[in-house]
Amino acid sequence: MRAIIESALIPKSPCIVDPGNGPRVKDMDVFLSSSFAAPPAMDDPMCAEFARDEVLQMLLTVLPEEMAMVLWYNKSRSRGRICPACLRLYNLGDLLPDHSEELKLWSHNGQVPELEKEKELSGICSSVCFIAASYNYPEAIRSTWGRTAEELDDQTWEFLNTPGGGHDDMGLGLLLRMSRLHDLGLAQLCFPDENFDSDGSESDQEIEIEKFHQEDMDIVCMSA
Ligand SMILES: [Zn+2]
Repeated sequence: MRAIIESALIPKSPCIVDPGNGPRVKDMDVFLSSSFAAPPAMDDPMCAEFARDEVLQMLLTVLPEEMAMVLWYNKSRSRGRICPACLRLYNLGDLLPDHSEELKLWSHNGQVPELEKEKELSGICSSVCFIAASYNYPEAIRSTWGRTAEELDDQTWEFLNTPGGGHDDMGLGLLLRMSRLHDLGLAQLCFPDENFDSDGSESDQEIEIEKFHQEDMDIVCMSA
């Protein structure tokens, strides 16, 4: 009985920690229902669409839980971001402290346009985190960095649609690929026979998701 009372008095472990160079999300599930989480941008049609619970449910069928929640958060908030690789919590436009282990692979002064674009697309916060996310696709790191599917050359896209190195990357490689597409490839996943080109142009860019469970997705799509 005493143990129960004591455990009830212990505050819940914080969902955010700061290792010294900025806040990191420690528990995504708790974070999402906390006051630290930015609200979905309901005035932005794209963010509002992503904010639907059905979208999160779809993402949970293809990505590990934490990755699915991070991607869902990043796509449904206008400025709020969580880096999928290091779980850094930030807003677009924030000046972020470098990771102490920041590699000088891409020497630069000031803003890097590709990095700013990458933060918007996937939430990845630094070149180090991008390298970690593309661990399975070493040949495509430079050609994918900060680019959408339309901006990628065919060779890079084909390469990204393979298992790459095949190492367990906790879903980071898949998140990297999905975030190149404006709808994360979810339209093609739900309605593979329909043409979703909003601009009317020819496009054969689709995403192949090896973790995709057709039965789960059918249920989600039908109930959406
Ligand atoms: Zn990061």
